[in-house]
Amino acid sequence: MRRLVLFLFPLFLLCGCREGHLPRTGGLPKPKYSDSQLSEGLKSPESEKLDVVSALVDQTLEAVRAEKLPERLPNWIAYHAVLIFGPDSYQVWRNGNADENLSRVFSVMLRSETNAEGAFVLREGKPWPRHSGSYFSQEHHPDQFLNYFSMTGGTLDVEISIDGRQFTMRDLLDRSLLESKADQELDYTVLAYSHYLEPGISWTDKFGETVSFPELLKVLLAKDEPTCLGTHRLGALARTQSREALCRTPEMKKLLPELELQVRTAVYELKSAQRPDGCFAIPGETPCSNSADFADIYFTGHSLEWILFLGDRFAADDWFVDAIESLAIKVLSNYELIYRNLDAVGSPGSHYDFDGLSHAVSALSRWRKIIEEGNLPSDHTTVSISD
Ligand SMILES: [Zn+2]
Ligand SMILES: [Zn+2]
Repeated sequence: MRRLVLFLFPLFLLCGCREGHLPRTGGLPKPKYSDSQLSEGLKSPESEKLDVVSALVDQTLEAVRAEKLPERLPNWIAYHAVLIFGPDSYQVWRNGNADENLSRVFSVMLRSETNAEGAFVLREGKPWPRHSGSYFSQEHHPDQFLNYFSMTGGTLDVEISIDGRQFTMRDLLDRSLLESKADQELDYTVLAYSHYLEPGISWTDKFGETVSFPELLKVLLAKDEPTCLGTHRLGALARTQSREALCRTPEMKKLLPELELQVRTAVYELKSAQRPDGCFAIPGETPCSNSADFADIYFTGHSLEWILFLGDRFAADDWFVDAIESLAIKVLSNYELIYRNLDAVGSPGSHYDFDGLSHAVSALSRWRKIIEEGNLPSDHTTVSISD
């Protein structure tokens, strides 16, 4: 309980302040729902239900992690596969406790050979993600690899090898800061920066312009990023919000009410779109192959993953636990086929099925860690945004 109170306290302070509201410019959504609508239906499940779902999630995690990984593990797949091993996977690997699957994944992620289309190339003498070669050897969005590495709990001092030369992930971040600009796609950049950047810093990009995190966040708040039905954009907002130290600067405080409103609105819309089976109705096309289950794993998995960047805020609510249960059941009955299709079919659809699986199992891992660490509220306290 204590941890929850600590988590909510700064939000009470920030969200009660009307002056801090961001002026609404074109593109920003107006509040569509009342405060009471956004707060309804928050209650915690019986503890037996949590026990049952936790056991199901444990069984699912164990099965998926033990399955032999696909034969083909191009960079894009490896940077997704690592999410399956959860938010502590870097520590497990660094401590020398990685099994064969996890060792193989980290080896593809961190050791790059140009001839073998490795994950990194050199750009002005610094590591840079591959943007050439075969499609699934490439990074598909700016800072996508850096972000997925951050989600393993990875630290910036980790070594990256490129054709035998040694660098660190810090070099990759430094290079990214030089390249960062407000008009690029920003989902993964904000996701990664919200995790790694020191609060309050600004830097100079390669054109000599000063850039700061709040500037990038402000742009992201005002635009749509449709990647994976907008879920990674929401993840960037949620992850930023959960990093309290980052949110304490005056520039950030101006953005927090809008940040909170967008997060709460998105959670409300998901809850409203929850089907009787626990998964969320899919608001658009997914790039998955033609399977309703794979599409559910993709969208419900991505959605739960971004909400869990908020920590335990919704993790023990009835609707959330129902969604976790439904997701675990679908993952358990489909993961083998998704793995094998990647070898046997290898089509873009099968790659995106694996993308969906990785984010879904990432969500299950994150949820399990939160539940295991306890301190869950017996009842939910909500944060007011209008008083
Ligand atoms: Zn995605
Ligand atoms: Zn992805």
